[in-house]
Order: sequence, then structure tokens, then C-alpha cells
Amino acid sequence: MQELLRQSEKLTTVGQLAAGVAHEIRNPLTTLRGFMQLQQQTRALNIQHVDIMLSELDRINLIVSEFLILAKPQASIFQNKDIRYVLGDVVSLLDSQAHLYGIEFVTDFEKEPIEVYCEENQLKQVFINILKNAMEAMPRGGGIGLKIIKENNQALIGIIDEGEGIPFERLAKLGEPFYTSKEKGTGLGLMISQRIIEAHKGTLNINSMVGWGTMVTITLPLVHPDPDGEEQPVVTSLDSGD
Ligand code: ADP
Ligand code: MG
Repeated sequence: MQELLRQSEKLTTVGQLAAGVAHEIRNPLTTLRGFMQLQQQTRALNIQHVDIMLSELDRINLIVSEFLILAKPQASIFQNKDIRYVLGDVVSLLDSQAHLYGIEFVTDFEKEPIEVYCEENQLKQVFINILKNAMEAMPRGGGIGLKIIKENNQALIGIIDEGEGIPFERLAKLGEPFYTSKEKGTGLGLMISQRIIEAHKGTLNINSMVGWGTMVTITLPLVHPDPDGEEQPVVTSLDSGD
């Protein structure tokens, strides 16, 4: 029953989102149609028009692909993973791009393994979203700090940038679909990240100060060391000792 309720709640939010996506896509489509009509009637299309058309098409593509992450029923494989490596992989992935912008990732991870039961690809998606936001907030470069510690039976992950920060009145809007301050933003990244972290029974919080930067804090429950009747994740291990 509880599960059914959850599912139907999910459906309505996806339904609402679909309406939003339709709205967001209709605007660039209208622009595209206008240019096509211009071409049909006057053959007056020039290279600037074509540039605009391409960027409108890119925008549609971006919205659709970000939306698909949420709406597409992907095969989800939950496994026990050391969160240090999950985040570490994303840092390596983005490192060369960051260098181009004069941005350096500074990691400070606990020495011991920190295992969480997670869908690795989804968590990577969350980290990519958050690190990209941090990078986009630092057009003049700087450092992005990444910290992972174990605290109160949880993995605590902090991502701290030295970017422009977020004004107080805007903080409340974060995570609303399509809320973006960027010319080429979709405003879907944080909302999707929030959903993914909730599905992991974790939390995602954002603190920020204009002129100082932004700190995103994520908590994720640790894998229980001792099953003891609790709902236990399947441990996938290559160790075939017994
Ligand atoms: P997008 O990046 O496409 O705009 P997001 O959902 O990822 O969408 O972020 C929504 C908004 O939150 C951004 O447009 C920006 O205004 C704000 N934001 C998110 N992260 C940061 C950050 N690290 N520094 C400053 N602003 C941020
Ligand atoms: Mg973003």
C-alpha cells in the first residue's frame, strides 16, 4: 500500500514534469518554426539565424536528455560501493576540463573504506551535476574542495566551491524544476540529484554566501556492518574464499 502510494506520487511528479518539459521545449520550437517560415517566404535566412537555430536545437536536446535520466526506467543495480572511489572516478573524469578553466579539485577523503549501498551510475550523475555547477560558478578559476568522512553511521560528503555564491532569496528556489540563472541552463540538475539522493535514503543540502562560495552536503547511510535481521543489501564480492 505504502509502496503503491509512493509510486503514484512519483507518477504525478513525473506527469507535472512532463508538462514542464513540453512548455520548455515549445519555446525553442516556436523560434525554429519562425525561422523556417522566414526562409520559406523570403529565403532570407543568414548564418546568424542558423546559429540561433542550432543553439535552440541544442537546448531541446539537453532538456530531453536530462529529463530522460529521470523518466526512463533504467536498470538499477544497487551494490555496496566505496563512496571514495565513486566520487574519485567523477573527479578524474572532470579533471582535465577543470584544468582548462583554471580550476583545481582538492580532495580530502577518509583513509578507511566508506561503503554505501548505492546505484553507482546514479550517484555519479549526482556528483557530475554538482561539480559542474561548482565549476560553472567559478568563471575565473579557483579551488573546489571535496571531503568525505564517516559520521554517525553515515557517509558525509562535502563539496565546497569558491564561486559566486547564491543569493538568499534564490536558495529557496533551488531544486524546483527549470529554475536556472544560466543562459544555457536547464534547471534540472539539482532536482534530479535531490531525487536520486532521496532514493538512497540520504539527504542533500546547500549552503551558500554570495561572494564566498557554495557548500553542498550529502549524507548517505552506511552499509550495516552486522545484518542482524535488518533489511540487508546483497553484498557483491569477488572474494570466493569459501
Ligand atoms: P542549471 O545548472 O542547469 O542551471 P541546476 O539545477 O544544476 O540547473 O542548478 C540550478 C541553479 O542553482 C543554477 O542555475 C544556479 O543559479 C544555482 N546553483 C547551483 N549550484 C550552484 C553553485 N555551486 N554556485 C552558484 N549557484 C549554483
Ligand atoms: Mg547544473
